[in-house]
Amino acid sequence: MAERTQLPATSSDPIVIVGGGLLGVATLYELVSRGEPAVLLEANQSVADETSFANGGMLTPSMPDPWNSPGVGAHLIESLFDPKSPLKLRWKAIPGLTFWGLEFLRNSAPKRHAATTDANYHLASYSTKKTDDLRRELGLKYDFSDTGTLKVFESEAAMDGPRALAERLEVHGLKFEALDREQTIAAEPQLGPIKDRIVGALRYPDDHVGDARKFTQDLSKRAMAAGGEIRFGARVDRILREAGRVSGVEVGGEVLKAKSLVLAAGVSAAGLGRALGIRLPIAPAKGYSFTIDASALGNEMPRVPVIDDAMHAAVVPLGQRLRFVGTAEFAGRDTNIDPVRVDNLKALFERMYPHLSDRVDLSTGQAWAGFRPMSADGRPFISQSPIEGLWLNCGHGHLGWTKAVGSARLLADQMLGTPTEIDATPFRYKRGR
Ligand SMILES: Cc1cc2nc3c(=O)[nH]c(=O)nc-3n(C[C@H](O)[C@H](O)[C@H](O)COP(=O)(O)OP(=O)(O)OC[C@H]3O[C@@H](n4cnc5c(N)ncnc54)[C@H](O)[C@@H]3O)c2cc1C
Repeated sequence: MAERTQLPATSSDPIVIVGGGLLGVATLYELVSRGEPAVLLEANQSVADETSFANGGMLTPSMPDPWNSPGVGAHLIESLFDPKSPLKLRWKAIPGLTFWGLEFLRNSAPKRHAATTDANYHLASYSTKKTDDLRRELGLKYDFSDTGTLKVFESEAAMDGPRALAERLEVHGLKFEALDREQTIAAEPQLGPIKDRIVGALRYPDDHVGDARKFTQDLSKRAMAAGGEIRFGARVDRILREAGRVSGVEVGGEVLKAKSLVLAAGVSAAGLGRALGIRLPIAPAKGYSFTIDASALGNEMPRVPVIDDAMHAAVVPLGQRLRFVGTAEFAGRDTNIDPVRVDNLKALFERMYPHLSDRVDLSTGQAWAGFRPMSADGRPFISQSPIEGLWLNCGHGHLGWTKAVGSARLLADQMLGTPTEIDATPFRYKRGR
């Protein structure tokens, strides 16, 4: 696959991107569309085969707050004893999370949490707009919809926190509407049968929806048409250095030289970084989705993604399909699909749309689990690393779809020395500088 050489990398070598998920493919497109030769290496046989495979599909600048909200520690401890807890810590994951866990808790201090929320909002909002620009410009097909999202509540008290967050973000540009019961049903008529249970909702009109995998597949074709190269079945075993800077990678015993390298390997970025002495506090936060064909619903198909704030889960229309998605488990990299978590998602659908549950065939639905690459402070790494020529685009946690296109732009601007359109400082490897 590659030249066997120890010669130093030269400027005629390509930029090598490790990882063909949302972040790697968006980076490839961004670089090649600006005339930079780039090669993407993906261990699997297709793009978007890991965490970008069947995520919630929502582009949500409305949800920029990281999951280590103040008080999260007590919540995680309680979750050890509750099999149904939406945010769950498993005993077996604790030893592997020690350092990351301490950082996660340290960053739950109110001031730090608020600063991360603001930084994430700016990136998420920028990225959602850039994703839409790209969709229009390239005619990308990915079951796009711009109906916004609805977060529904069963008590006024439950609505207070999310409303306060939305009010705080309003000064940064977030649009939202607080809806009463009647207005909520008008926004999504299929919620009518549970009207009496709902007190209201927050509607975020600028949130978008789309299938992240279809987007990644379509964008990868556009990147290749623009001169980019993707090699499948190419697992990077080692990142190589010469004279203090990155010089290439080793793949299956062969060497591929690189002018510079972008680490976009999702949850595997931490391990690849560690081998070079770079600490990337990124842990896998496992989540589930269950996707059904809902074409039988015809006019009764829900139109708007509805988020149940109490269950940290959502029912999301994606074209003719419905995807039930949510839950987060710190369980290491256990790929097993736990039927209890899947049943929780089916129960959410039945609770939200009781009149529709016997109109669809749940037995043919597809259960999936993936690992959100969760950084300890809730912000992705989009910058050069301490090693010259090694760039980072990883750690996007629960918002990797929302932030993919914007992160790729932000990184490409830094790599090519172009002024960035938003502040890149919060996403530097060295935080706060
Ligand atoms: C249940 C769930 C719901 C979610 N819902 C949403 C949502 O609604 N909105 C949102 O914005 N985000 C959502 N997310 C988060 C989002 O899916 C992730 O942040 C995003 O997919 C991460 O993309 P990535 O490219 O960093 O990682 P990945 O998609 O995992 O890609 C990394 C790639 O690197 C490859 N790789 C790893 N190591 C190597 C190696 N050594 N050599 C070569 N290749 C390698 C892997 O094979 C993989 O393909 C959700 C996540 C989950 C799990």
